[in-house]
Amino acid sequence: MKLRKTALFASALLLVAAAAGCSRKTKTTPVIAPDKDVEAKVEQVLKGMSLEEKAGQMVQLSIDIISNQGSFDVDPAKMDVIFGQYKVGSILNVLQGHSFDREKTADFIAKIQAKSMEHIGIPCIFGLDMIHGASYLTDGTLFPQEINIAATFNRSYAEAMGRIMAYESRAAQCPWVFSPVMDLGRDARWPRHWESYGEDPYLQAEMARTETVAIQGEDPNHIDLEHAAVSIKHFMGYGVPHTGKDRTPAYIAENDLREKFFRPFKECFEAGALTAMVNSASINGVPTHANAILLSGWVKEEQGWDGMFFTDWADSEDHFNRDHVAADKREAVKMGINAGIDMIMDPYDPECCNVIVDLAKAGEIPMSRIDDAVRRILRLKVRLGLFENPTWEHDYPEFASEAFAKQSYDAAVESEVLLKNEGVLPFKGTERILVTGPNANSLRTLNGGWSYTWQGSADAFVPQYNTILEALQNRFPGKVTWVPAIVYDDSYGAWQNETVASIQQARNVARNVDVIVCCVGENSYCETPGNMDDLNLSQNQKDLVKALAETGKPVVLVLNEGRPRIIGDIEPLVKAVVDVMLPSNYGGDALAALLAGDENFSGKLPFTYSKHINALHTYDYKVSEHREVMDGSYNYDAVMDVQWPFGFGLSYTTFAYSDLALEGPADFKAGDVLKVSVKVTNTGDRAGKEAVLVYSSDLVASLIPDVKRLRGFEKVALEPGESKTVTFEIPAHELAFVGADGKWRLEAGDFRISCGGLGLAVRCSETKVWETPNI
Ligand code: BGC
Repeated sequence: MKLRKTALFASALLLVAAAAGCSRKTKTTPVIAPDKDVEAKVEQVLKGMSLEEKAGQMVQLSIDIISNQGSFDVDPAKMDVIFGQYKVGSILNVLQGHSFDREKTADFIAKIQAKSMEHIGIPCIFGLDMIHGASYLTDGTLFPQEINIAATFNRSYAEAMGRIMAYESRAAQCPWVFSPVMDLGRDARWPRHWESYGEDPYLQAEMARTETVAIQGEDPNHIDLEHAAVSIKHFMGYGVPHTGKDRTPAYIAENDLREKFFRPFKECFEAGALTAMVNSASINGVPTHANAILLSGWVKEEQGWDGMFFTDWADSEDHFNRDHVAADKREAVKMGINAGIDMIMDPYDPECCNVIVDLAKAGEIPMSRIDDAVRRILRLKVRLGLFENPTWEHDYPEFASEAFAKQSYDAAVESEVLLKNEGVLPFKGTERILVTGPNANSLRTLNGGWSYTWQGSADAFVPQYNTILEALQNRFPGKVTWVPAIVYDDSYGAWQNETVASIQQARNVARNVDVIVCCVGENSYCETPGNMDDLNLSQNQKDLVKALAETGKPVVLVLNEGRPRIIGDIEPLVKAVVDVMLPSNYGGDALAALLAGDENFSGKLPFTYSKHINALHTYDYKVSEHREVMDGSYNYDAVMDVQWPFGFGLSYTTFAYSDLALEGPADFKAGDVLKVSVKVTNTGDRAGKEAVLVYSSDLVASLIPDVKRLRGFEKVALEPGESKTVTFEIPAHELAFVGADGKWRLEAGDFRISCGGLGLAVRCSETKVWETPNI
């Protein structure tokens, strides 16, 4: 059951926040073009509402509050109170904190809708954490987690995941999903690293925008019965806590905030994202949900965004219990709503409705702000068609189909990354294989958190899928011996603990096999329970690898983990490394096919895999951060001392890059588009896919430039001997950065475009500084 203690917030900050709608320029064209019928319906409903009804719409409760412990149903009497008395507008979560099948889920949502219509006459907006596919339906299709989808460098999987997630959620009467997650995973210590599309803003933005459109469809004003509303999250800066721990403060330079952290959100707002969940923590000392500059300024005003912001889990409590920016709940609620929060996720406290009523009556939240928030909530409900269809009859023939499963499997294949291969892979098929390690026989670890339960419990819900062990046994019948060696503790809250069963036994068995597949990493976790103090892979697991390597038998190290655990001391001992990250239910089958050579590897790391505990990097570092460059000179060929860099991944074939060329003159100006092409040839003897990544480097700039930045990627399939020319169109303004004065600038001077080890010199012929906050 998802029960978390949260904490609570300060008035000085509210002042900062309230003063804040102040952004440089207000965008006049709304990101989502208003639809007059939608707006008319919103006004008509709003006109008839009492203050109490308005306040109720602004509160979201957990389903726990309308159900009874031990009963797998909602309680009509409790719903009469919540909808009849409090007029609550939204419910989230699943009964008893875990998934049910489509039918059962549809049944309890329908009962909620019936009560909401009976008591309020306004449909409830029900939302679920569908994070990697329909991850809260026991019979739904789960996809690899976002970090894996990023590793495919193939947008079509973000599209497939979003489309299928929406379709299957709708099939269970759920119209709102709390996806995509788009916090930049720029700190590997953060326990939600795997929920993101990795460390790069462009990659994150491309994948998240693709997923957003796939979930919602093309017209955000009219979401049909096969699409759902997104909640992009967590706005913003959540992924770089100073401590590495969940929900702790981030300190982000203003220019980075605009240039890197805002980018994925901006792209999704522009693509029509209807709701956004706000970062539970804080940026530069201001709790995000009290940050009017960001919420009302950057988004609602600059973007002209008419969607809905809501808090994360019990964040109003955090503002006074935890952050001490408010003296009590009343002050915290006032702070959030005045800053631009429209709905408060206050899972267990319906009294929040009365707090809002009281604040409005006292004039501490202006009625205009209440009406604005309620309009945004009603607009969401109208856009989803909930007034006509609080529940709906529609056929979903493809629900959990083979075709959907195939897309999840294909995504898993393209997401598992081959990081090292000294002649041991693919297997010939004749080898006797020892499979060992705590991650070898677990669906829970293949899926990670947000899989059937908050912390992840796939083994309990979907035993029919294959673990890595089972998949290898199926693929290599009679060849596999299994020794667990180490087991995780699956009891609540203790899943980072592990017990050594017998490393000695694994070592003994290893002597009689030809190759060892050692599956290590992490147990599943999510949010605060995933906090830890040491990014190193656990000592037990390192000891296991060392013991196995001592036998002289080749070890294939399989990493099944949500964040890159440090393995610098054991990597030299093994012959091959595959990082499967969190590939979900078909991840074991995908791995077996890859190890067997039935499929080819094509995944690349969407993050930097660090080697040293005190040297956690991202690929877009400043040259001066490089420890080998002490004279301050720019060395664009310098390689960070990392285990594996961003964008690294091997294949069973080889690719050669040639003919990197620019169409047109090498001089450009802000309005130009750089057309860059490169020829990629499969020079090996197997078919393969290659993710082609193109970067730019600003060679001299008024703020220390990043050594390089990803500006484009495409995945190409090539038969042996085949060549393809890949063309990228890079708008010149993409090469701009946010300067010390907070303004976007593209400065005259030299740039370098690089791709596949080739480089190209280009030159910006005139400096341009933008007066608008976004370009
Ligand atoms: C998480 C969110 C999630 C919400 C609702 C929070 O604790 O941070 O990502 O959507 O709970 O379950």
